[in-house]
Formats: sequence, C-alpha cells, structure tokens
Amino acid sequence: MSMRVYNFSAGPAMLPTPVMEKAQEEFCNYHGVGNGIIELTHRGAQFEEVLGRAKSNIKELMNISDEYEIIFVQGGASLQFSMIPMNLMLPGGFAEYADTGTWANKAAKEAKLFGNVKIIASSKDTNYNKIPDIRHWKPEAGSSYLHLTSNNTVFGTQYHAFPDMDGTGVPLIADMSSDIMSRRIDVNKFGLIYAGAQKNIGPSGICLVIMKKELAERTHEKIPTMLKYSTYIDNDSMYNTPPTFAIYMIALVTDWLKEQGGLTVVEEINDMKSEVLYELIDKSAFYRCPAEPSNRSKMNVNFRLPTEELEEKFVKEAKANGMLGLKGHRSVGGIRASIYNAMPMKGVEQLIDFMNEFERIYG
Ligand SMILES: *Cc1c(COP(=O)(O)O)cnc(C)c1O
Repeated sequence: MSMRVYNFSAGPAMLPTPVMEKAQEEFCNYHGVGNGIIELTHRGAQFEEVLGRAKSNIKELMNISDEYEIIFVQGGASLQFSMIPMNLMLPGGFAEYADTGTWANKAAKEAKLFGNVKIIASSKDTNYNKIPDIRHWKPEAGSSYLHLTSNNTVFGTQYHAFPDMDGTGVPLIADMSSDIMSRRIDVNKFGLIYAGAQKNIGPSGICLVIMKKELAERTHEKIPTMLKYSTYIDNDSMYNTPPTFAIYMIALVTDWLKEQGGLTVVEEINDMKSEVLYELIDKSAFYRCPAEPSNRSKMNVNFRLPTEELEEKFVKEAKANGMLGLKGHRSVGGIRASIYNAMPMKGVEQLIDFMNEFERIYG
C-alpha cells in the first residue's frame, strides 16, 4: 500500500494500515464463507464471533470488570449527548457539567432538555486553553451525574487527572471520543464512558458505551426502546440490526491494539509522539502552542504560525508532501495535528522534518 499517506485529520481519522489491509483481504470472502461480513446475517456464527471478539478485546485492553456492560449504539457520540440525560437525569433533578469547549457545550445543551444543568467549571474565559482544575471536586447532593470531556479535540487540551467521585454516589461520565484506548485509565472511577469510534478505534457512526450495569436501572419506562440503554444491554447490542461492518472494524482495530502490546505500550508511543512535537513547538520562535503545557492533548496538537497566510501555505505544502488534514478546526483556525493511535512515529517524524524545513524557509 505504497500510496497511503499520513492523515492527520481529527476524524474520521486514519486507521492502522495492517487493519485496512486485513479488511481488504476479507472484504469479499470472509474466512472462506464466500461472502463478506457486510453481507452476512448478524444472527449467524460469523458475526456473533466478531461482536464477541470486539467486546472481549475492549474488556481486556481496558481492564473492565464484570460490573460494566459494553454496548454499541448508532448515532455517534452526539446521540449520547441526549441519551445520557434522557436515561440518567434523576426525575426533576440536575446534572453537573464541566465546560472545556465545543463538544462539552454540545453535551450540556442536550442535557438542558431533560433537567437543570449546572456548569461546575469552565475555561471559556481563556478561550479553552486549559482544563479547569476539578481534581478535588465534590458534587452537590442530589446531582444526577458529573459529565466531562476527557480530550478536547478542537482546542487540543486533555485531562491528565480525573475528579475522584468515590463515596459520593454520583457517577462520573466521560466523553472519551478522541482519546479512548490511547492510554490506560481506571474504568472503575467512571459510571459511564462513551466514545464515537472514528478517532481511535474504527469508522464513524458507531459509539462505544461502557456503563455500570446498575446505572441502566435508573431509566424510566417512557423512553423510546431504541434510546434506552437497557435495550442494548438486554439484547447484546442487537435489538435491531447493528452496524455490523463498523463493529467488525472495531474488532480488527482492537486485535491490532492487543498485538501492539496493549495500552501500556500504546500509551508510551503516544507520549513519545506528542512529546517530540511539543518540544519542537516550544523551542521554536516560529511555532506557538496556545494550550497550557500541563493540560495539552496527546491526541490533537494545536499550533499557530506567525500569520494566517503562512498557516494556509503550511497546510498546502504539507499536503503536497503527503501529509493530510492539518488544518485546524474552523472555529479556532491554525494548525491541528491529530496523532491518534494509528499515526505511527514515522508519520510524526515526517511532520517534524517538514516543520523544520518550513521554518528554515519562511521563518
Ligand atoms: C468527534 C467528537 C464528538 C462527535 O462525535 P460524532 O460521532 O460525530 O457524534 C463528540 N465528542 C468529542 C470529544 C469528539 O471529539
């Protein structure tokens, strides 16, 4: 696959080349069945094995206990913005939200349809260049849950420590769409974790939800079947036809993550990739990173050049050199290098060489 280039897009993002090749190899004829997985019934042995493998891989990689359910829901992470309050907001109650930017805001907006939303912390005043310190946050009595966004894809910030909710009885809920399985986390600290797959673990349109079984019991009756967590739990994510191909891709990506040596190894590589990039940016007078050093994202490295004209040139020339998707989110501008699990160190090294050369010419 010599024609593959390095794609730094924020999502959908590049998948590991061995995974793409395996999917290609099996596309028309899955394990000698004579049809592809995309064409096979979800009630058959082949797909059941795929679904089981995806779940057991995730369970193993993230060290998830039997107190949790692993389900797949369509509608991306954005549907979870609604499903969470719809299912988990206590009657007449309120929920707490930490505001760290675009996605956190979208989540809070939906919750307002189902109860009161208390914004417990925000970094809006400084244009979301940091994570508010909520490590020692104690929830208010009666709070339905605390919601946060573990990695802020647009602003390039990330939580490196989470509030400890032990003993409060209030579940911690996290949108991990852009850093799921990029590092080790203690799942036991969370009531519910969700992640749209298209950044780190698969194609778009599907959302991984990991939730404490007991939380699903909160849901009251008057919720549409397809929007109720218990429907997915009781039917092993197959109440209706699930997105079989997306789940198959997640199975392949998680196979690959295990082959890499699991999340300990993956985290080390991700640390290295982000460190070398931030080091270059911090050393240079040409590049500049708006995010506070202690809250920087290891997944989305945002930086600015001296002028917008140079930024435009940078994106264009990078593309001509086989590096795609470096334009920052339209709401913030600048450059964004998304370096999820599938981005190899080699891709980052190529970007660094390009950045040095670009600075030498235009700096
Ligand atoms: C991309 C992203 C989303 C949106 O995901 P969809 O699957 O498009 O709904 C939500 N939250 C975060 C943190 C994201 O990065």
